[in-house]
Amino acid sequence: MPELPEVETIKEDLRGLVVGSTIEEVEIVEPALVEQPAFEEFAGRLRGARITGARRRAKHLIFELGEGDSLVFQLKIGGQLLLVPPVPEPETALMLVLGLDGGRKLFLRDETGFTRARLLDAEELEARLASLGPEPFEEFFDAGYLKRVLGRRRVQIKSALLDQKVVSGIGNIYVDEILYDARLHPKRKANTLSEGEWEALYRAIRENLRAGVEHRGTTVRLYRDVLNRPGSHQDYLRVFEKHGKPCPDCEGKVVREKVGGRSTHYCPSCQREDGSGGEQTLNLGLH
Ligand SMILES: [Zn+2]
Repeated sequence: MPELPEVETIKEDLRGLVVGSTIEEVEIVEPALVEQPAFEEFAGRLRGARITGARRRAKHLIFELGEGDSLVFQLKIGGQLLLVPPVPEPETALMLVLGLDGGRKLFLRDETGFTRARLLDAEELEARLASLGPEPFEEFFDAGYLKRVLGRRRVQIKSALLDQKVVSGIGNIYVDEILYDARLHPKRKANTLSEGEWEALYRAIRENLRAGVEHRGTTVRLYRDVLNRPGSHQDYLRVFEKHGKPCPDCEGKVVREKVGGRSTHYCPSCQREDGSGGEQTLNLGLH
């Protein structure tokens, strides 16, 4: 599912390929896509609008349009935005088709059907994004921030990192990889983390997301970029969906269990629930 690195990749593709185009035709194939406003108004306001910019906030993909409007997509689990041509016209799972000037079309397709779109004015956009936590690459996002926000809470660390109010853009794939690198058991309570563990967690967040962006995203199943190409970060995953396989760092095996309702993958030897593994690894690293 598209998390920060995947939405970032799509956004960069759109900047190069689509920004500057005018939307000439709007075909809403799946009305459930449109959350706001009513779909007749949605189509009417989009028709004739020029795409002036593309940006990302958390997992939201935002098309900036003239006159302060923004077209905001949440690609959720399986949303794909495909530019035709060069991509051959897709025929299944279509939700929206935007006809652009010059005879090109932008297809939104989603086999899971969960993608949602909103057309918002500047004020509505601000309200919509207001509750989101900081971007992981922002200057003031650091170990101190994480400790300040979470250090007194008994919340499980995995659930805390998935909370978009705490930090934005992390989803179920990257969070398992991040916790593996930080040597933290997904069920560790935030208020039990040491100074060194906050630092390791912060570094793991930045490194994993940066690698994900560099590899143009993770394609486990449905993710594709705007030219229908898969990412390559799936080749670098250590624990996500690797249950039953050996841990890259020890003799043990990766396991899978539900944590906070989400399918979770970790190494029980490297990521001890009592925190002993993490401290040990970290101390060895310091000498
Ligand atoms: Zn291990």
